[in-house]
Amino acid sequence: MIIRGKIGGTEDVVDIILIDGSVGDILPAVLSRKVDLGNETVHAAAGFIDLQLNGYIGVDFNNTETTPSQILDATKALWKTGVTSYCPTIITGSGDHINGCIENIMLAADQHPEVDEAIAGLHIEGPFISPEDGPRGAHPREHVRPPDWDEFRSWQKKADGLIRIVTLSPEWPEAIDFIDRAVDSGVIVAIGHTAATPAQIDAAVKAGARLSTHLGNGSHAKIDRHPNYIWEQLASDDLWASFIVDGHHLPPSVVKCFMRAKTTDRSILVTDAIAAAGLPSGNYKLGDVAVEVTPERKVCLPGTPYLAGSVLEMHDAIANLVRFSDASLGDALRMASYNPAALLGRTDWTGSLESGKRSDIVLFNWDEKNYSIDIQVTIVKGKVVFNKLKVES
Ligand SMILES: [Zn+2]
Repeated sequence: MIIRGKIGGTEDVVDIILIDGSVGDILPAVLSRKVDLGNETVHAAAGFIDLQLNGYIGVDFNNTETTPSQILDATKALWKTGVTSYCPTIITGSGDHINGCIENIMLAADQHPEVDEAIAGLHIEGPFISPEDGPRGAHPREHVRPPDWDEFRSWQKKADGLIRIVTLSPEWPEAIDFIDRAVDSGVIVAIGHTAATPAQIDAAVKAGARLSTHLGNGSHAKIDRHPNYIWEQLASDDLWASFIVDGHHLPPSVVKCFMRAKTTDRSILVTDAIAAAGLPSGNYKLGDVAVEVTPERKVCLPGTPYLAGSVLEMHDAIANLVRFSDASLGDALRMASYNPAALLGRTDWTGSLESGKRSDIVLFNWDEKNYSIDIQVTIVKGKVVFNKLKVES
């Protein structure tokens, strides 16, 4: 199959030749070459990778009743948003609950190759986070606990080694020993939902923590202007940061400043979407927690100022980032594909359009006046899985 489009965020039109699920060659477009998919006005980019996703179209990865076929439905629906790979994210809960959610995902990956191919790893967010109101966000207080390596190891065993990211708070005395062990085992430790002191953040980074989870969120509504845990993470060149750029979690000016501090090289777009993403506004559940999706598409804990995840979709996160910051379209695309793959250590697998890599490709229209991305075609391992252009494949 040959697809034609402007590569990444540029105006350069290329032909991308796909062979057996991989990118074969990328050549300057020649008028005489037969083009099966795409055209000279669409952009072609590597499939998007979402490192933090709690659910989609009513399917909740944090519900132990969720079935493998529902997880398949969510995976397929994500193709419409350009997401070809993701980390199902399981938040704070009892040990049994977390085990049940892991089991569902493993079963889905076992039964459905589409899910298996989409899962880039599991992200366990909590329960080793701050118990304080504010930093804890929507995570249930009764299940927050100190880092426990043996418990984590039991989840990893259940997940067959698939847990790739754990988000915790270094404010616990047990945190540094846990980070040491997690890093040794190849798991990426992220700092998030934290009330840690700058010294505790620094100790976590020295022990090998590599990511700030949704930096600027999962924090107190009011903190000392400096020093504090946000500046400390922003200033650390060893920490990558993920951002939820939905216009609600971070004001545009904060996105712009955070991006300048972290730079494109160390920034990652995540949606942190909950099951209500892809559905109309209204009242929903996030695990056992009731949440409200307002008409402005803000997800709140009813009666509190606290946000509880988002209903953001990745193509909108990319467009919002260009709108709010100095980032070019190419920078924003990189933060949704190459950078998450790089953090996972999987750039040999996907994350960019290069010869030999898995051909996960998104074709989309970019409206630079209105900052809007309209996904046209999504390809996974060389197979067209979403086709709005209705072109033959
Ligand atoms: Zn969170």
